[in-house]
Amino acid sequence: MVITRFAPSPTGYLHIGGLRTALFNWLWAKKNNGKFRLRIEDTDLSRNKQEAVDAILEAFNWTGLHWDDEVVFQSERFDKYKEYVKELLDKGMAYKCYLTKEELETIREARMKGEEPPIDIRKYRDFKGELDKPYVIRFKAPLSGKVGFEDGVKGKAEIDASQVDDFVIARSDGTPTYNFVVVIDDHEMGMTDIIRGDDHFTNTFKQVLVYKAFGWDVPKFYHVPMIHNEKGSKMSKRDGAVDVMEYKREGYLPEALLNFLVRLGWSHGDQEIFSIDEMIKLFDPKDINKAPSRYNKEKLDWLNQHYIKNSPNERIVKLLKEDFGVDIEGHDKKEILIDELKDRVKTLKEMAEEIKKMLSTPAEYNEKAVKKFLKDEVISNLREFLVFLNDKEPKTPVDWHDVMNEFLELKGIKPKFLMPPLRIAMVGDTKGIDLAAMLSILGKDEVKKRISKLLA
Ligand code: GLU
Repeated sequence: MVITRFAPSPTGYLHIGGLRTALFNWLWAKKNNGKFRLRIEDTDLSRNKQEAVDAILEAFNWTGLHWDDEVVFQSERFDKYKEYVKELLDKGMAYKCYLTKEELETIREARMKGEEPPIDIRKYRDFKGELDKPYVIRFKAPLSGKVGFEDGVKGKAEIDASQVDDFVIARSDGTPTYNFVVVIDDHEMGMTDIIRGDDHFTNTFKQVLVYKAFGWDVPKFYHVPMIHNEKGSKMSKRDGAVDVMEYKREGYLPEALLNFLVRLGWSHGDQEIFSIDEMIKLFDPKDINKAPSRYNKEKLDWLNQHYIKNSPNERIVKLLKEDFGVDIEGHDKKEILIDELKDRVKTLKEMAEEIKKMLSTPAEYNEKAVKKFLKDEVISNLREFLVFLNDKEPKTPVDWHDVMNEFLELKGIKPKFLMPPLRIAMVGDTKGIDLAAMLSILGKDEVKKRISKLLA
């Protein structure tokens, strides 16, 4: 069985890089009818445990990714890690290192300068006694031979084992370190496949040594290149490296975001649009790209527009109310309203704003538009149109279309002497959805009210 995991350090929220990693692991587990598990790596920040889970839970709930089995918290497993540290100590595969802070600093400085350190970092490797001094526990990395693994994205990875330091597995206060506990947990949680950011690539050599020390099978690793911003450098908050829930607040649909993320670093021919089922069917980590991917806001907007267009109106009405406080459930023309806007907006937030604008009397009129379209003779057209409406009962967009045409013919004037002014009267500007649809949505009384207000 394929078992994958997502193992975030609790930073307070889930960002899109994390969500992409989670998605890849989730897809691979689903595709293989396997399991996707969640582990919170809270060895340093155990007090933020609940917050971290809540943030992930919220993002997972919104996007529909769900994990199997119980969440594993590293902060609850310290006793377990201690047993494993002891096992390596007993087997002579780890040792107590009494190097002082100053000694370590000397080593670090020499290394930084590219010089041979005057003190050997492995000084206590073969020391058999006990000192009454604080110590850390170091792993005995092999002094010769090779260490390597087959990376599913990058190919064969191999280095001389001597390049790996005797790394610390337990700090002087007894707490274990990442490169040690990650192996214990991945082994105990039954991981077969690990897809994660390539910032962990070099750590993997150390981790492989730990697997070997315990005689455990090494899982399959896939290291995914980073997501870069549009300029090709590291993503910042301004580029969209923000809380996943921010995308919800900005009016993106979860399926659009997932579709966007699956294509950041993975491809299937030149296909751009993938339903969740298709992603599950087609995703294979061996197709993950070797080069960093580029965040492309335009692509995200395009996908979101696609998914908005293809969403049932009922869902959109519900989301507008829940997420943006725009309640049009009781509006008799809501279908026309949504149909019109669906083709025009990139986000639900934009849609909510357009609706709010359209459903409230304009507070001001665009000066440029007024200057251009509201000449005196035009104003008299609007006055006459107001009267003309008295004995008409237009309801649908088609009715309104007919009424306007009838008026134009009767007066023998061009559309530009009626339509733009009408729009200005309705929404304060010459932009917006189809005019006949707009008038139909507002209804005759409101239309008359807004024309009168402009004329007043
Ligand atoms: N907790 C690590 C991180 O958030 C991930 C560790 C891993 O995937 O092995 O970067």
